[in-house]
Amino acid sequence: MKAQPTASHFIDGAYVEDTAGAVIDVIYPATGAVIARLHEATPALIDRALAAATRAQGQWAATRPVERARILRRAADMIRDRGEELAQLETLDTGKPVQETRVADWPSGADALEYFAGLAPTVTGETIPLGGDFVYTLREPLGVCVGIGAWNYPSQIACWKSAPALAFGNAMVFKPSEVTPLGALKLAEIYIEAGLPAGLFNVVQGRGAVGGALVTDPRVAKVSLTGSVPTGRKVYAAAAEGMRHVTMELGGKSPLIIFDDASLEDAVGAAMMANFYSAGQVCSNGTRVFVQKGIKDAFLSRLKVRAEAMVLGDPLDDATQMGPLVSDVQLAKVMGYIDTAKTEGARLVTGGARAALNTGYFVQPTVFADVTDDMTLAREEVFGPVMAVLDFDTEEEAITRANATEFGLAAGVFTADITRAHRVIGQLQAGTCWINAYNLTPVEAPFGGMKASGVGRENGHAAVQHYTQVKSVYVGMGPVDAPY
Ligand code: NAD
Repeated sequence: MKAQPTASHFIDGAYVEDTAGAVIDVIYPATGAVIARLHEATPALIDRALAAATRAQGQWAATRPVERARILRRAADMIRDRGEELAQLETLDTGKPVQETRVADWPSGADALEYFAGLAPTVTGETIPLGGDFVYTLREPLGVCVGIGAWNYPSQIACWKSAPALAFGNAMVFKPSEVTPLGALKLAEIYIEAGLPAGLFNVVQGRGAVGGALVTDPRVAKVSLTGSVPTGRKVYAAAAEGMRHVTMELGGKSPLIIFDDASLEDAVGAAMMANFYSAGQVCSNGTRVFVQKGIKDAFLSRLKVRAEAMVLGDPLDDATQMGPLVSDVQLAKVMGYIDTAKTEGARLVTGGARAALNTGYFVQPTVFADVTDDMTLAREEVFGPVMAVLDFDTEEEAITRANATEFGLAAGVFTADITRAHRVIGQLQAGTCWINAYNLTPVEAPFGGMKASGVGRENGHAAVQHYTQVKSVYVGMGPVDAPY
């Protein structure tokens, strides 16, 4: 099986190769086979991409918003038309089952293009009367934006970053994760076919050092990173040197609080979606499942039955519900966390081992009960199909313990008591919350984290603030009153 792209990079409207760059092997996680061989961007290519973006951005900023919108909408339609082909490529790149990539990854990206196309022409300034003189404001693009992606939702991330950037008149240089570099190249192709002028969306491949070179370049006005908290700290600090705008979409250890009165079947289903979707490689996952003691036994026995019925296997098979982890590195990391959980005294309810398939980086859906707040499993992001179930007695206790983490990406509450639901959500320190639902992230809703989980928001009207800047213009209507 091969998924070799035309070339490694897409710069100024065309595929570009430079074999002087270090090799990046793209691995299909279900078999461990090399499906493509790419090269990292050399300094010369990074420079070309930034130069192209800088050149193209001025004209684009001067283009009517409805015209920008028309191109984005055309690109969204093309993504939908090519849905099956793109889903299969995403599956090869990430190992996620086509069951997911058909409905979640590119479709959610197309939604972002459509949404920001609709929003672009509505972005306006305001007029501030001063009784004669007045001020008006303009919302202007930032300039050249850098997008850096994680490997778990590579194409969705490329769309979520580029759609608002382009809609509001910016250019973007995007560096996908070196683990999943293929989808962003397809997006670049689609944008050009949809009529986007060359140079506005460029893709350069590479590891952290390529990202570092982009972040510190003086031509760059903004950096949007999706990645881990340690990388976020480095990138935020590097961007600060140049006083650049940032959006940081980072990791989490999000609480999902299930009260005794919740619908058992819904709570179990949500906890599974919050831990096993994409083999648990979702930043907003509810990985600390706090279950009130009255419902705990029923919850765990139903969860065990449903988890053990999950279908693992070939991600390209329609019937497969869970695929492998993205890489051997991730597999080793997740198995390490499972071993530590066992050593630290968590009770294994189900799973806890590699899945018995002949190839690939598969791990069984795993549930640990009797997890306590001090265990590694309750404190660190695992990024694999490993659920930690913790028990609690009272609402106050659940809130205090849910908030006792450096992270603040997401949180969920399951209860039939609607006033309690709102009361609890009101006290949780998390940027993205759900009541009787989990992990739904429609483009209409702002998405992002509090505390160490991030800065800024993607999606929703909130994204306008993060891809534009305000210019205020004072207009003097009378004589200048100079005291000298
Ligand atoms: P990572 O932090 O290892 O890498 C993210 C990206 O940053 C990659 O493209 C990498 O090459 C690049 N990078 C690494 N060092 C860099 C540096 N010094 N300068 C510039 N760029 C650098 O993350 P990952 O392992 O690819 O992804 C998993 C992490 O991403 C998890 O922590 C997950 O929670 C997080 N994530 C967050 C969100 C969100 O929206 N909040 C979404 C998806 C994933």
